[in-house]
Amino acid sequence: MYPARPGEFTYHRPTTVAEALSLLGDGDARPLAGGHSLLPLMKIRLAGPSAIVDLGRIEGLDAISRDGDVLTIGATATHAAVASSDAVRAACPALADAAGLIGDRQVRNRGTIGGSISHADPGADYPTVLTALDATVVVTGTGGEREVPIDDFFQGIFTTALGPGELVTAVRLPACGSGTGAAYLKKKHPASGYAVVGVGALVIVDGGGTCTSARVAIGGVNGVPVRATAAEQILVGEVVSLDTATRAADTVAQSLGGGEIADTYASAEYRVHLASVLAKRAIAAAIERAAT
Ligand code: FAD
Repeated sequence: MYPARPGEFTYHRPTTVAEALSLLGDGDARPLAGGHSLLPLMKIRLAGPSAIVDLGRIEGLDAISRDGDVLTIGATATHAAVASSDAVRAACPALADAAGLIGDRQVRNRGTIGGSISHADPGADYPTVLTALDATVVVTGTGGEREVPIDDFFQGIFTTALGPGELVTAVRLPACGSGTGAAYLKKKHPASGYAVVGVGALVIVDGGGTCTSARVAIGGVNGVPVRATAAEQILVGEVVSLDTATRAADTVAQSLGGGEIADTYASAEYRVHLASVLAKRAIAAAIERAAT
């Protein structure tokens, strides 16, 4: 039997990022955001930090703003805030959709975008949709701020490009302009809502309907989101249609290339099949959005 309660720790509640960073430099302190992943790990003693640095009182760290074509979402913005934000809906509707599909109401009201991507669960939704949307992660440490392209951020299951004592402070995304369409779809685990498989797709088309750029990301199959590059290559240069979406989706398995997750929820073979089915639907939905 595990004790079902965490070990001893010191609780800090900083009010600025600088104060949080200084506290995180002290031993094995861990940041706390929504606590929906960290606290269960502490309760079963898979995590036992000596100190918790609660980010919830840092003013402005949950801000969502748009500056020209760049949407910035602060790290402690909850999934509910992202799902209901007019700015997110206008700039990146696929991201608002994805946030609204996370867990249940309680999870969406506590969980944060920064906590989700820092935790890097292979079944989480944000990593996949943010990969499709070509996001940038703003990482802040005592030495200053750096921007990490999303393709470089996820390095393995529960492993990211964050260094010791660093915080995710924001996520930046290019706003979807005219001719750009994106969509995110997932097969939910029936109990938790996590993605057994999730697929994000983005297409940019010119006035004649020819695709000039595409990103297709598959989550839940491997440990990190995988770009379906063969599918992207089929889309670019084509006048895109449902037929193109089908041909592109048929190549998805080529990009997944071994190491697929197999567990009690779904076999590797089933996940690869789902990835192809969802990719076809997500690409088709992205094409439809690009045309409106
Ligand atoms: P926390 O639990 O507070 O932190 C998680 C980890 O990230 C910790 O290691 C912490 O130290 C670190 N951390 C937190 N914030 C930062 C930061 N700014 N910088 C650096 N490190 C940081 N997710 C989905 O995507 N889809 C789902 O369908 C889904 N269903 C869920 C169902 C249940 C029942 C539960 C409990 C969770 C579910 N989640 C799902 C996950 C949830 O939505 C949160 O995204 C996730 O728990 C992490 O976010 P958090 O804010 O709670 O982070």
